[in-house]
Amino acid sequence: MDPPSFVIEASEAESMAANSGLTVLQLLPSLVKPAQTLARPPISKFHVGAVGYGSSGRIFLGVNLEFPGLPLHHSVHAEQFLVTNLSINGETRLEYIAVSSAPCGHCRQFLQEIRGAPDIKILITSAEPGDDDGNRPDFDKFNPLLSLLPQRFGPDDLLDKDMPLFLEPHRNGFSFPSGTHHSLSNGSCDENGEVGLLKLAALEATNNSHAPYSGCPSGVAILDSSGRIYKGSYTESAAYNPSLGPVQAALIAYIAGGGGGYDKIVAVVLVEKEDASIRQEQTARLLLQSISPKSEFRVFQCSKKTCPC
Ligand SMILES: [Zn+2]
Repeated sequence: MDPPSFVIEASEAESMAANSGLTVLQLLPSLVKPAQTLARPPISKFHVGAVGYGSSGRIFLGVNLEFPGLPLHHSVHAEQFLVTNLSINGETRLEYIAVSSAPCGHCRQFLQEIRGAPDIKILITSAEPGDDDGNRPDFDKFNPLLSLLPQRFGPDDLLDKDMPLFLEPHRNGFSFPSGTHHSLSNGSCDENGEVGLLKLAALEATNNSHAPYSGCPSGVAILDSSGRIYKGSYTESAAYNPSLGPVQAALIAYIAGGGGGYDKIVAVVLVEKEDASIRQEQTARLLLQSISPKSEFRVFQCSKKTCPC
């Protein structure tokens, strides 16, 4: 089977399921192995694939990413990739997940940032291997995430109930200091056109960033050698350490959007809040120097100050 795309439209999912004699939900675990082939784990060589079903009927894929030369905590887990892929594509609810192996504690915690997380249904395909007689694995055994993480610690412990959670629309309301955003609005800027477009994309990502615990949202935009732009938002976890950095989020957009090797990345822009107590710049620089040392990296600050003009 050819590797599936990272986003499968609802109509395509239905026809794929019908052609395979499966329901759409049964299709999810059948896509886990093909998804695993898309993983990039040069350190562990352990390929993880996660396949999710959103409320729109679309199917999304996630895979693990590892970065040689850097501490392991820079890695992206397949479940993080998956839900970030949903976010990038505007999906507001994750209903089902099929994953190749049991989610680690880090991922069980990261998923708690989604409203209704305990009710997300999950199936671990390695736990349903089928039998030696060739009988098909039981691909109907979805269980609530609650069963994998009872007595959870999550957003409810730290946030007001009306705060938007991950996958819900965020309108963080940041802009560039006065004098820059007007020229940016038409897609050009005082530096050059491409950097201007990247700044705008990174600002959009910052305004969609889920950072309620630090109050320091950020976003990254990547430009590749074919001129395409990919953007990703920093995402925090109530447990802090499972938080996903903005470069990682943009790399997810890059890979899910068809970007190739990291050597195709030519420029990267990070936008973060001025006077932020949580800063991404140095960590972002470290990661980019490791995977794409020739790319240009620029950092811009944004604020909520109103432009006087
Ligand atoms: Zn994990």
